[in-house]
Amino acid sequence: MTDDVSQYSAEELEQIRGAVAAEESPLCPRCNVIMTSRAIGGGSFGLGYARRRDWLICPKCRRSALYDIKRGTRN
Ligand SMILES: [Zn+2]
Repeated sequence: MTDDVSQYSAEELEQIRGAVAAEESPLCPRCNVIMTSRAIGGGSFGLGYARRRDWLICPKCRRSALYDIKRGTRN
């Protein structure tokens, strides 16, 4: 049974998240192309917490990943 439709492995998700957290352009680990990033939310409704949601889509394989990125807390 092949179940590889539109999903990254946990390892790949970690890779992408690392790039996002570093505010770099994330590459799809499978295709090595820059992923399209869409910010979701970001305070249009005054949500009151410093959070942003990034939705990353690979334009080639169409896999996507959704991350909650905490803003303003850098160590
Ligand atoms: Zn891809």
